[in-house]
Amino acid sequence: MAQYQKITPPTNGEKIHKNADGSLAVPDNPIIPRIIGDGIGPDISAATAHVVEAAVKKVFGGKKQIVWFDVHAGEAAKEKYDEWLPDDTVEAIKEYRVAIKGPLTTPIGGGIRSINVALRQILDLFACVRPVRWFNGVPAPVKRPDLLDVVIFRENTEDIYKGIEFKQGTPEAAKFIKQLKSDFGKEVREDSGIGIKPISVFGSKRLVRMAIQYAIDKKKPSVTLVHKGNIMKFTEGAFSEWGYQVARDEFPEQTITEADVWEKHNGKAPEGKVVIKDRICDAMFQQLLLRPDEYSVLATMNLNGDYLSDACAAQVGGLGLAPGANIGDDYALFEATHGTAPKYAGKDMVNPGSLLLSAVMMLEHLNWDDAARLIVDGMEKTISAKTVTYDLERQMEGGRKVSTSDFAKLIVDKF
Ligand code: NAP
Repeated sequence: MAQYQKITPPTNGEKIHKNADGSLAVPDNPIIPRIIGDGIGPDISAATAHVVEAAVKKVFGGKKQIVWFDVHAGEAAKEKYDEWLPDDTVEAIKEYRVAIKGPLTTPIGGGIRSINVALRQILDLFACVRPVRWFNGVPAPVKRPDLLDVVIFRENTEDIYKGIEFKQGTPEAAKFIKQLKSDFGKEVREDSGIGIKPISVFGSKRLVRMAIQYAIDKKKPSVTLVHKGNIMKFTEGAFSEWGYQVARDEFPEQTITEADVWEKHNGKAPEGKVVIKDRICDAMFQQLLLRPDEYSVLATMNLNGDYLSDACAAQVGGLGLAPGANIGDDYALFEATHGTAPKYAGKDMVNPGSLLLSAVMMLEHLNWDDAARLIVDGMEKTISAKTVTYDLERQMEGGRKVSTSDFAKLIVDKF
């Protein structure tokens, strides 16, 4: 067991292990490290825990339970450890593998740039996973928000996140431009800034592998590889090619390409097979607006996924309800996608939906799908009844405003 300086793991739970095939061995009482978060973190974390505990109890009748292990980051850690991201916290996530976090204040000046980015890098959480779906009753800007139900797997470590830049007018940029001409015969305007975005076989394949495995496990109909390969063949185009390769080499029985569906099966995918297709990113945007129900799991490079995640969330009524997770081969961290909203801290007022739906993703990750479904169902009924927190109430005709904690209680009442 790891040695901790200022925290003590609970004694009434067990560790999640990894099986030889990479799947998780989840005990009935898994210890889950939890970062409550800053600002509104305590409000939404309390509401989330209340709903999750009630759902697990209802579904498993006390046979299973989550054992929270409170670990610290952000302002709470600064107070307790005089550090924004203590080793204890990182060690705990490594030891227990699956963790959940509320929003954290981004430190201003000195030391660490962003705790979220640091966690992602230290734990090699290479996939940012964002499920986006509509909840009945949430005002949305499109006519049929109900048709969108996608899970976006966005690569977290390459592309512009590994972007190398040389500022316009610097000797480095000048040298680079000169060398591009002398060594490679490539013309670039002399007054250019330069940016490089690397895309590797390793980074692309592990992301697509995770997306395909998810589609298989959760019985999703398709995985779409999103790229701009018509223009950038050796980065964007390669991402798509390597994605098809993973499907062909590693999942030949469980997948089929869209081309084969048309050529060999008259356009109808054989039962139980995940269809692998690709779309140029601009067409993808358009399709998600016009024919959203033709898409399910999306696998994207970093920048394309950035736009798409937020655009999809906006399409179903905003970012307030959007959950997220950062997942790697060894660890998974589920988190609210919004910030700490400090002006609402402690007011029991904000929407706990983003963190709660992240907890739903966590339950699905543990394969406790029935508990996950119960929560989504309860949340759907609560929102449909127009009992919502202030952010949704102000956009809803006839809505009734409830507090964070009451919203959680209303969800549990529906179980
Ligand atoms: P923010 O905390 O997300 O808040 C911006 C606005 O979004 C709020 O004023 C509120 O809008 C709305 N909002 C956010 N969460 C909500 C919720 N749960 N329910 C209802 N409305 C919600 O963004 P910010 O003010 O730019 O950032 C504050 C701090 O959070 C900064 O330190 C930032 O670095 C950090 N941050 C952390 C994360 C993270 O940990 N993942 C992410 C983003 C930002 P209205 O006032 O219009 O109601």
